Amino acid sequence: MSKTYIPARLRQEVATDAQFRCGYCHTTQHISGQLLVIDHLIPEACGGLTVRENLWLACRLCNEFKGTRTEAIDPLTNDSVPLFNPRTQSWEVHFTWSEDGTEIIGLTAIGRATVEALKMNNDVIVAARSLWVQAGLHPPVD
Ligand SMILES: [Zn+2]
Repeated sequence: MSKTYIPARLRQEVATDAQFRCGYCHTTQHISGQLLVIDHLIPEACGGLTVRENLWLACRLCNEFKGTRTEAIDPLTNDSVPLFNPRTQSWEVHFTWSEDGTEIIGLTAIGRATVEALKMNNDVIVAARSLWVQAGLHPPVD
């Protein structure tokens, strides 16, 4: 989570860019009932600036598991690869939903590494997604 003050206007611009959903797991603010946080794509600890181009929305879980990381290990190849960048990369290229809509499947090295590093299929979120699927609210459609 950001340590730098982020003006309300910039926060709103980033939220609009991100369609009010987590750039990683696509959990939406209105379904989760949780305020999403501003994620520094390049972490502040690594010199990332608090400018629109370096900001996106993330849920608290993805943001916490991401921490100051910029890379992670692809579990298939054991190669270190960059984490997914929701501002510059297409979610659909790197991820897809499992058939039942409760789990995110990484399609690329970046996708697989990001799913693993951010624990995007943790028990808590998978249980919530299961309820959202039953309610016809998930997976999100663009
Ligand atoms: Zn998330």
